[in-house]
This record gives sequence, C-alpha cells and structure tokens, in this order.
Amino acid sequence: MSHADATVADVAARLAAVRERIAAAVARRGDGPAVRLVGVSKRQPLTAIENAAAAGLQDFGENYAQELRDKQQAHPHAPWRWHFIGALQSNKVRLVVGCALVHTIDRPKLLPAIEHHAAEHGHVQDVLVQVNVAGEVGKAGIAPHELPALLDRFADLPHVRCRGLMLIPPEASPEATRPHFRALRHLAEAQAATSRPGVVLEELSMGMSADFEVAIEEGATLVRVGTAIFGPRPSSRSDPHDDTG
Ligand SMILES: *Cc1c(COP(=O)(O)O)cnc(C)c1O
Repeated sequence: MSHADATVADVAARLAAVRERIAAAVARRGDGPAVRLVGVSKRQPLTAIENAAAAGLQDFGENYAQELRDKQQAHPHAPWRWHFIGALQSNKVRLVVGCALVHTIDRPKLLPAIEHHAAEHGHVQDVLVQVNVAGEVGKAGIAPHELPALLDRFADLPHVRCRGLMLIPPEASPEATRPHFRALRHLAEAQAATSRPGVVLEELSMGMSADFEVAIEEGATLVRVGTAIFGPRPSSRSDPHDDTG
C-alpha cells in the first residue's frame, strides 16, 4: 500500500485542516484580498484529484505540461481551474495555453509563444510573472530590475494578460522566508502605480505547505499547497527512491 492510496476521507480531513489554517492566517492579516487555495497535484494520481474535488477543492496546480494536459483531458467537463506552476519550456507552451493561470512566466521569450497559441484558440491567457526576488544564482524568475520592461511588453500582446507576480523563495524556515514574501508584495505595489495595458497586479502567488500561513500574512492571494493536502507525492518512476516529495 503506497502513500498514493489516500482515501476520500483522508484528503477531506487534510483539506479541512488547511482551510482552517488559511482562515486563521487571514484573520491575523486583517483586511485584504481573498485567498485562493491551489492544490498542487503534481505526480498525484487522478483519483487524488477526484477525491479532493469531491471535498470541494476547485483549483489544481501542475508542474509538468504534459501531465497537466493529460489530467485536464481526463476530465474535460469538470469545473476545475487548472494552474501551471512548473518551469515552462518554449516548446511546451501550446500544452498550457487554455489553463486558468500560468504562474511561471520567467523570461520575455515566452510571451510571443503564448500570444501565438492563445490567439489561435481565440483565448486570452492569464499569466503571472515569476520574480527571483532573492537574486539567487541559477534560479528561475526574472530579476526585480527587469520587471518593468517585461510588464511593458504586455501592451503589444492582446491575448495575454498579466494578473500578478509569483515567487519560489530560497529554501528556509517560514520566518526566514517572510522578507521574500514581503519583497514580492512591495514590488507589486510599486509597479501597480504605473498603469499598463494588459497588466493588473492583483494576484500574489506565494506560499507552499511549509509556509503558506506566513505568505498569507504578507499578502498572498494564491497559495500553492501540495503535501499538506495530498500527503507525500508518489515516487517518480525515474527515481524509485525519491520519497521526499
Ligand atoms: C511542488 C510545488 C508546490 C507544493 O509544494 P508542497 O511543499 O508539497 O506544498 C508549490 N509550488 C511549486 C512551484 C511547486 O513546484
């Protein structure tokens, strides 16, 4: 019996606990935007998603473009919102256009490809820009000083709309991560002062299982929570010993 065989009741109980913690964090934060829970279902079987949906979860986040497409196509009529939260390769853009929100625009080059595929489908694609606020070498995300120029480009892309910013912080304790969450909010606030066609900076995608409460206290509107809802991720086939999730 693997960890993947969590029952409906397991998932419902974990989901309820996460929702309670979100509500408590929102109460500590005080007035502010609504917080949406994105259940990160990468490498989880379809049954895990179905169980979470039965317990009321509506938003699912996937890291691999083909896995996102396959899961989406398995339930084409479900009223779920799919989020793409993984590293995006140019040749996979066509697989993610059409999902509710692409969180990981981390370089200008992706934008013409998204515009092209979205226009082809008569769709306006909502996206977030991933920012490397900590300036980590080799990490995805654009540098804060490059953000204004990237946001300017949306004016020429009628089928792509920027809805906010996204952060994957350096691995650290929740409290050590707080300044990074705060920096992303300050960056969004500063850029929101400039009005740009195709850009509305209202979403902040930040916070995962280990630190979503701190992220909410710092203004997150989208929290991406995997293991706290679904339990440990099943080992991937390419690495049968990867049990760390
Ligand atoms: C896997 C992943 C998550 C969820 O991580 P957990 O620790 O399982 O909550 C969130 N965001 C991104 C970008 C991820 O890759």
